[in-house]
Amino acid sequence: MAECVLCGCCLAGCPLLAATGREELSPRAKALLAGPSKWDAALLRETDVAALTTLCLACGRCEKLCPQGVKVPQLVAAMRAAHPDFRQWLWKQWITRLGPCWSLAARGAALLPESFVPASLGLALKGLKGLRPGGGLDPWLRVTDLPEAAFAAKYADHEVAVFDGCVGRGPRASSWGENARYLLRELGARLIDVKFGCCGSTLGVAGLPGEQRDTRRANIDAWRSAGRPLLAVYCATCVKGLSDYAAPGTDVTELFADAAEAELWTRGMMPLSALLAGARGRVTSGAPDVVGYHQPCHAAQLPGGGDADQALLHGLLNSRLRAPEKSACCGFGGILQLTAPDLSTRVGAACWANLEGAPGSGDALEAAPASVLTGCSGCVMQLSATAPAGVRVGHWLEVIRRD
Ligand code: SF4
Ligand code: SF4
Repeated sequence: MAECVLCGCCLAGCPLLAATGREELSPRAKALLAGPSKWDAALLRETDVAALTTLCLACGRCEKLCPQGVKVPQLVAAMRAAHPDFRQWLWKQWITRLGPCWSLAARGAALLPESFVPASLGLALKGLKGLRPGGGLDPWLRVTDLPEAAFAAKYADHEVAVFDGCVGRGPRASSWGENARYLLRELGARLIDVKFGCCGSTLGVAGLPGEQRDTRRANIDAWRSAGRPLLAVYCATCVKGLSDYAAPGTDVTELFADAAEAELWTRGMMPLSALLAGARGRVTSGAPDVVGYHQPCHAAQLPGGGDADQALLHGLLNSRLRAPEKSACCGFGGILQLTAPDLSTRVGAACWANLEGAPGSGDALEAAPASVLTGCSGCVMQLSATAPAGVRVGHWLEVIRRD
């Protein structure tokens, strides 16, 4: 495993360090304490080290900046796995068992008076409330031109399955899931129905490797049984989670029949926005004058580089779209919403300040975008929970009109 040389190249990317100024929360501290060199056990207790090092958003920004190839999110996940607590159990129930009930839970969260909610659950429940049926953005964007010819030239012979993820097959099935299928049908895709589960990303981050392996295996089995179709994915974290099944350095035989099948999985998985690249649209009545864009930490990339969702939205919305010059983490962090909601909230506040400072959005709060679009289910939940009054947040698929 790569070892930290304490160079500090990762520090500038860490949203936790930026929001708190606390070096002990930095990736360098985590790499030092949870990495191969470990700590002096005579000075620090393992439980204290675990409590500190697992305060991490798993955003992966440090990993991209590290010249040594240190993967702090992996170190943190291993530390969480070695020190389980009841919040992991809660997270596991939530993701693996309660998925089908998310709509019901979101309705319940919306009805709960705030004074009844324990402070430690407040942020997570607010995010859930943001997913309540009927609570999303109204549709105001008609797609007028799609790249049908480019799609047919590449994929005419392939069947396509949609990977919805936990939110897109649950509380947002009628907007995210159905709009994704509508756009793909208009594009000329031969759609087939495949039942997938969670991508497993959030389970791995939470230190639940066994559960992550099970959910990955179930997804591969479903894909194989369906004849190994192309996968269209519209949640940025799902794209990352599914890519990790066959990431360089992993033992692909754990999940796949052989390296050729793993290669087929990797090549056949595409962000929906990349398939729609070049689409044009027209806004209809009810469209806000200014639309903010939040780039997820795991933003899905176009084949030549660049954020696929942002490029698509820029083509559809032109100057109406406002994106900050530099992206900022929303502060979701999966299980961190439960283990350290205060930290998650502070990172969220910094993210909103960054969005409000986007060129063209104006400095005054009232000039901030009235709607913010993004392409990740975790970001939708976190930004809904932390949004300033009057600002609405949703996945870009919510604003697509099908009529
Ligand atoms: S994964 Fe993100 S929050 Fe965690 S240490 Fe790295 S940059 Fe900081
Ligand atoms: S984690 Fe990587 S970038 Fe950060 S201090 Fe260690 S070696 Fe340097």
